Parts: sequence; C-alpha cells; structure tokens
Amino acid sequence: MNTIITPAGLAAANQSRRELDGRVAVVTGSTSGIGLAIAEALAARGAMVVLNGFGDREAIEGTCARLSGTHEVSVLYDDADMSAPAEAAGMVERARRALGPVDILVNNAGIQHVAPIEDFPPEKWEAILSVNLSAVFHTTRAALGSMKARGWGRIVNIASAHGLVASPFKSAYVAAKHGVIGLTKVTALEAAESGVTCNAVCPGYVWTPLVAGQVADQAKAHGLSEEEVVKKVFLKEQPTGRFATVEEIATTVVFLCSAGAGSVTGVALPVDGGWTAH
Ligand code: NAD
Repeated sequence: MNTIITPAGLAAANQSRRELDGRVAVVTGSTSGIGLAIAEALAARGAMVVLNGFGDREAIEGTCARLSGTHEVSVLYDDADMSAPAEAAGMVERARRALGPVDILVNNAGIQHVAPIEDFPPEKWEAILSVNLSAVFHTTRAALGSMKARGWGRIVNIASAHGLVASPFKSAYVAAKHGVIGLTKVTALEAAESGVTCNAVCPGYVWTPLVAGQVADQAKAHGLSEEEVVKKVFLKEQPTGRFATVEEIATTVVFLCSAGAGSVTGVALPVDGGWTAH
C-alpha cells in the first residue's frame, strides 16, 4: 500500500524534526564523546547550542562551524571549567546574553579515575566530585529560576549505570553518579509544577575516549590484559554484548527534551543494554 503524505502531514513531520526550534541548549562536556553527539542531536532538532569542554581550540571552532552549517542554528563554544563553580554558573549567564535564556541544560561533563580505595589519590576524589556532581548543582542553580519563571525547561543529567549500581575501584565516580541521581530527584520535585522536568540518563558502557582511557588502569587493577578487560570487565556487564552508541544516548536525551516527555520527571533512565536488569 502506498503511503499518502498530505501537505499537513509533511508540515507536521517537518515540525517534529525541528521541534526544538528557537530553544537554547547548553551541553557541558560536549567537545567529545556522548556530549558531542547530544549537542548534534539537539542542533538537528533546531536548538541553538552552547558547546563546552576541553580540546584543541581550532578543532572545536571547526565543530561549531560544522554543526551550525549543517543544521542552520547558532552554535557557540564556552571554555568554562566545570570544576570551578563560578565558571560553571557563569556559562549559563553567558549563554543567556549571547543566545537567550537557557531552555535545555544537559549536564554531561565527566571524568574518571580507577584505583582501589587505599590507593585512590584524594585530589582525584575532589576533582571527580567537583566535575561530575558539584557542577550539576552550580549550573542547575543558575538556570532553574529562569526556566520556572518562563514555564518550560528541560534538565538532563548524564549519570551512569554506576549511579544505580557499583563496581570496584571507582569509589569517587560511583559516589558522584549516585549523588547526581539524588540531585535529579530533588530538582524534579522542586520544579514539578512549573513545566520544567529534570531527569537522569544512565548509560552503560559506551565506547568513548573516557572508556578507552580506563583500559590500562582497569587491566592493572584487575590483573588482566587490556583485551580481557574489554570482554571480562566492560562487556560482561552488558547482556547485549556490545557497547551502547553515543547516538543511542543522544536519542534518549532528545526524547526527554520533547513535548511528549512532559510528564517524565525525576527518573533515572538506564540505557545500558540490560546491565541493571541483572
Ligand atoms: P569523554 O571523555 O569523551 O567526554 C567528556 C567531556 O567532558 C569532554 O568534552 C571533556 O572535555 C569534558 N570535560 C572534562 N572535564 C571537564 C571540565 N572540568 N570542565 C568542562 N568540561 C570537561 O567522555 P564520555 O564517555 O563522552 O562521557 C560523557 C558523560 O557520560 C560523563 O559524565 C560520563 O561519566 C558519562 N558516562 C559515560 C559512559 C561511557 O561508557 N562512556 C558510561 C556512563 C556514563
């Protein structure tokens, strides 16, 4: 049977493809990996985007130009360091001045360190807590009031399966990600009547520079070869037997930002190939 597409149907399809037209999105840690895929997915739906994170300045400017040209939206870069509270909060204000009030805040920046507790450097503990957890508080604190006042907003916190369950040798990361899920619930409750939702996405293992960078340390901590780490530590957890993709995480974030997800708030949504179903 042929599908007949009416002009009204086409308009509706175009509208839903660009359903975030005119929205301003800030994605922390979006120069790489999952954050970059989220930024691109939001831009593809019409949102103006502020990229953030570290990396080669020229390459980042190239990414901004590519996203902007491909999706016909404004894309800016802010080099705020999420370990510095004033910089994290300041980014929300700079986004407002450049593009307008922030409608969508994706807290994605994250770092990792793998070591047994006895050997875990205290400065790594502090760094992981500040980037992975405290920055979420500081950006949320800066953005939430305006979202509530305008009656619409989406805050998506990229937690982890490690926000729901633990693994050895990741004390700071697991503590921070459990904390992110707690903060997500509080934010959701405080915003519930205002049209603002707040949710956490909990990826399982996704092959990105963050995971690739853990292989050597995991091999040392577990006494395994690097190849064994991929099979026996990473993919052992995921019944699907494969890494999740950055696009799968980004698609979930787009759903949470959609009008249809207006009643989804305060959840910690696993995108983990079945890991936490164990
Ligand atoms: P990644 O290393 O590819 O990207 C991390 C991003 O954060 C980069 O853009 C980096 O520049 C930025 N960043 C790091 N420190 C920063 C700081 N102080 N200030 C600003 N930006 C900073 O990592 P990824 O795998 O894409 O991880 C993204 C998020 O997803 C993290 O929160 C991570 O914990 C979470 N996550 C990843 C996985 C996975 O398997 N990759 C699984 C679960 C959760």
